[in-house]
Amino acid sequence: MYIVLLGAPGSGKGTQGKIVAERLGLLHLSTGDMFRAAEREGTPLGRLAKEYKDRGQLVPDSITVAMVHEALLEHGLGHGVILDGFPRTLEQARALDAILAGDGRKIDLALYLSVADAVLVERLAQRWQCTNCGTVFGLGNAAETAGTCSRCGGQLSQRSDDRPDVVRERLEVYYRDTLPVVDYYRDRGVLREIDGNRAVTEVTRAICAALEGVLATSA
Ligand code: AMP
Repeated sequence: MYIVLLGAPGSGKGTQGKIVAERLGLLHLSTGDMFRAAEREGTPLGRLAKEYKDRGQLVPDSITVAMVHEALLEHGLGHGVILDGFPRTLEQARALDAILAGDGRKIDLALYLSVADAVLVERLAQRWQCTNCGTVFGLGNAAETAGTCSRCGGQLSQRSDDRPDVVRERLEVYYRDTLPVVDYYRDRGVLREIDGNRAVTEVTRAICAALEGVLATSA
């Protein structure tokens, strides 16, 4: 099964992507995580991605598509994947379709986590992330663990692109470049919109209900 998770920065794609991938035994492929890993490793790709990320802009399509294509081939196209944060432009969506079509596959479900701007801005301002394992914490949780990750003991820090000025740019880029991707999947009849303003467990429940609907019709 091929699933894409769409939504603005802070909509919960990463959190939900991990939970749902684990439940369904699918690979969770987050382009944001892949770029951050490359940055930590100090590779040329990581250095390049950081330049775009710190300005709140998207890494060029050709680079991003090549990275995802390589990861999919490495994983094997026969296995299911949840793509989180990709595609983010129409060009990426078309390139992904072409990659999958080359293997007789297609996107089965596009989940769109819709969240009000005010909620997004508040969540991003309060987001802390483990510098070691990448687990994301809200402000309350980060304070509870005194700045260390409750999973691995790593140090928590705020992402450099969660600064208010960068967040504004990221939201602008999202509305301009990524929202058309929502319509792209709507037109193909595979879009399910999920109210992402709610608590994590409620959103997971809604996603699972949408997935059951798709699994039932494809059975
Ligand atoms: P995220 O963690 O998904 O918010 O991604 C962090 C940053 O990585 C974004 O602001 C972009 O600079 C870059 N990035 C992640 N996914 C993509 C993508 N599909 N296309 C281009 N740039 C991306």
